[in-house]
Amino acid sequence: MHCASCAGIIEKTFKKTEGVQSAEVNPGTETVKVVFDEAKTNPQDLSQKIEKLGYSLIIPTAVEMGMSADEHAGHLGLNQSKKEKLAEVESMRSKVISIIPLAIFSVFVMSWDILGQYKVVPEMSHTLYEFFHHLLPIFATYALFVVGKPYLLGFYRFLRYGKANMDTLIGIGTSAAFLYSLTISSFEDALRPFINVDQTYYDVTIIVITFIALGKYLEARSKIKTGDAIEKLLNLQAKTALVIRDGKEVEISISEVKHGDLIVVKPGAKIPVDGLITEGSSFVDESMVTGEPMPVQKKVGDSVVAGTINTSGAFTFKATKVGAETLLAQIIKMVEDAQSSKAPIQALADKISSVFVPITLVIAFLSLGAWLVFGYGPLGFSQALSFGLVSFVGVLVIACPCALGLATPTAIIVGVGKGAKEGILIKDAATLEKLHKVDTVIVDKTGTITIGKPTLVDIQNLSEIKDGELISILASLEKKSEHPIAHAIVNYAQEKNMVIENVAAFEGIQGKGLKGSVKDIEYYAGNIKLMKDLGVAFDVSKIEEFTAQGKTPVILATKEKVLGFVMVADEIKSESKQAVSDLHKLGIKVIMLTGDDEKAAKYMAALVGIDEVVAHVLPQDKLAKIKELQSQGKIVAMAGDGVNDAPALAVADVGIAMGTGTDVAIESAGITLLGGDVSKLVKAIKLSKMTMRGIKQNLFWAFIYNIVGIPLAAGVFYPIFGWLLNPVFAGFAMAFSSVSVVSNSLRIKAKKL
Ligand code: ADP
Ligand code: MG
Repeated sequence: MHCASCAGIIEKTFKKTEGVQSAEVNPGTETVKVVFDEAKTNPQDLSQKIEKLGYSLIIPTAVEMGMSADEHAGHLGLNQSKKEKLAEVESMRSKVISIIPLAIFSVFVMSWDILGQYKVVPEMSHTLYEFFHHLLPIFATYALFVVGKPYLLGFYRFLRYGKANMDTLIGIGTSAAFLYSLTISSFEDALRPFINVDQTYYDVTIIVITFIALGKYLEARSKIKTGDAIEKLLNLQAKTALVIRDGKEVEISISEVKHGDLIVVKPGAKIPVDGLITEGSSFVDESMVTGEPMPVQKKVGDSVVAGTINTSGAFTFKATKVGAETLLAQIIKMVEDAQSSKAPIQALADKISSVFVPITLVIAFLSLGAWLVFGYGPLGFSQALSFGLVSFVGVLVIACPCALGLATPTAIIVGVGKGAKEGILIKDAATLEKLHKVDTVIVDKTGTITIGKPTLVDIQNLSEIKDGELISILASLEKKSEHPIAHAIVNYAQEKNMVIENVAAFEGIQGKGLKGSVKDIEYYAGNIKLMKDLGVAFDVSKIEEFTAQGKTPVILATKEKVLGFVMVADEIKSESKQAVSDLHKLGIKVIMLTGDDEKAAKYMAALVGIDEVVAHVLPQDKLAKIKELQSQGKIVAMAGDGVNDAPALAVADVGIAMGTGTDVAIESAGITLLGGDVSKLVKAIKLSKMTMRGIKQNLFWAFIYNIVGIPLAAGVFYPIFGWLLNPVFAGFAMAFSSVSVVSNSLRIKAKKL
């Protein structure tokens, strides 16, 4: 595909095909997403439909579409099309190199002609003039029929099928200049009384085609660079794994690794699939996946993910996720999907570029006609025709919607890819677009602002039973829970080698705590809210001394009375404070929503500078709070752990899941921050702003070229200022516009977040 107008043509052709439900073309990635009825059509059929228009489908096989477990071969398709693209870029390059000397020659002859006329330099001798002007038609023939072949084909398809794209415009423009000149050369004597036979446009044909071909080549070259994030991710994938089979280490292809295989990882080796360490320990460099620079210590029982690198020790791990299930495979899929998705901001550009080509054709013919009609009187036929032709060619050449079509997708591709490198996974372009408008960020306390690994720091026994027994009962109950608080209590009990009893009739009570029976006595454990629900008497002042320091109480009670409580404390992440102040600098309000104790939450919030705290909220109340903010016109991003906050994440304008880097459900939220801390949230917002700024600049430049260029080329300013754009400059401007748009998108890559 060469242009946004191509996207429009292909999309329309597919949509008109029977059995096709939807078709979405992305000119940035040169891909199309088609939903079709298999009974009525198939990919081969669809490919045929567009072949006569000059395109074809590279159809991924079932394996490549990720239908089999062997996803890795899946990216073969991608590599294949990349190879084809590289070959295409290479052939574009050799054509450009072959034509540049001809263009230089034409400029030289053209300048000498003009400067000679104004007596700046001595005029060419007659022989030299004749010699040069005999070479030009030959060079122009090469330019048009060899280098300009795609444009001629575009012209041909327009005549044959009535479908026009940007190639058509260039084709019509350059062939018009060529044919006009050829006619003059052929019938010089017959035409002499009517038109200026000394004025030919072979040089225009040569130079315009050179600029366009050069521009297309530079554009194609940079376009390949926009997508290299995926390639880098693909390269993270190990090709083989060292598995233990029958007691021996054997090297097998990673596509043969099965669940439960024991895999040996030597120092310096890549980890081939996801799993849990069963033996040994080491430091693992996870930076390529999570963006965290420091290697992470891994011991028995810790999880490792594919694509990360073992630095020092050796270990064995059990494969738990293989093929398409690995985190890396999911990341690659997500980045690919996001890069080929459409941002809402693109809709307008799409609409414009779909009608651009026919409108341009009309404008070009209108300006030719206008020159003849209005120019005939004041200028005479010969001069009017000459200017008309210049306008005709100029309009066709300058008015390509190319830059317009590339403006959004190239920036999205670069933005999404840059995010992935930092461990910021963006689900689709729409999310990236929405994020830059966010003015309110809601954060969870545990795991977002704090580390999320609380410890038990205090025990207050209010009953006759021994301390040890109290903790033992509590730990037995908590053993059944997944809450970070529960881990704190269970860890404490296990360190002290306390007995963990069997629990019957266990039930988690959302946002409050839990209940269960130990030795036939029913116990409740949780926060003050739970005690209020139970109706047991509890003197709140007893815990206030602790909560005022940010500690969270867990109260143990029977149906009748409170037995005692423990305090757990979580540490604030070192980057939280800076991140909150960075968010403030971006003009964003930060609200903490937590199910935790109010005093404790307020204490933590004050330490990091959070604006507002809403404590004691049940998960469903989190939804209500978000909706309330939205009804006030706020654009809300919610950052949470993605597991029990999933509904709230879904309601927020942008849901941000804080992954731990090894165990994340990356589908659940619009954005996933791997190894997530709030500072990445700041980076994600900055990335979104940066990308949107890039898109807006791109759109501005793409539009301005056309808004200024078309009237200028048509000669609208000629009667006022005597300005008429030489088609040569039109070619330059057009080439420059797409190249500048793609380079501007690439700039996002180099910027610091
Ligand atoms: P958050 O994620 O903001 O902590 P939750 O809904 O997960 O919100 O929990 C809210 C509160 O409920 C906790 O702060 C705690 O007081 C209580 N709670 C939840 N689960 C447990 C548990 N397993 N043991 C004790 N208390 C719990
Ligand atoms: Mg929670």
